[in-house]
Amino acid sequence: MTADALLSHLEGIKRTGLGRWLARCPAHPDRHPSLAIRELPDGRILVHDFAGCAVESVLSAVGLSFADLHPHRAIAQGCKSERRPFPAVDVLRAIGFEATLVCLAAAHLSRGGTLTEQDRARLLVAHSRISAALEETGHV
Ligand SMILES: [Zn+2]
Repeated sequence: MTADALLSHLEGIKRTGLGRWLARCPAHPDRHPSLAIRELPDGRILVHDFAGCAVESVLSAVGLSFADLHPHRAIAQGCKSERRPFPAVDVLRAIGFEATLVCLAAAHLSRGGTLTEQDRARLLVAHSRISAALEETGHV
């Protein structure tokens, strides 16, 4: 199946880049598009709902299954050309640390503390790292 075929089942589609779209998730009442669709150069389609619905729920809501999305999954898994320079677990560890940092800053502020210029700069780094991590996992 092509990304276009999947998109024809969805609403509120917004193209966000080459082979990337956002749409309203069919598996939950989604007022703002939270479903990311990505078509990889090898033809595979990645689906991720930022609101947390499982891919299976999203697909079954429009009458599709995982097999429709990845007809050649067994072959694709053995493909070495996959564009994922970092293992997902490393990406998760990295954003876990960044999230802790943001929490610490929030706790400090809620106790009436202030942030130095350096703290603010570090928080911006945390934000860009979290965004970059999403990019890395191929879900954006
Ligand atoms: Zn959803």
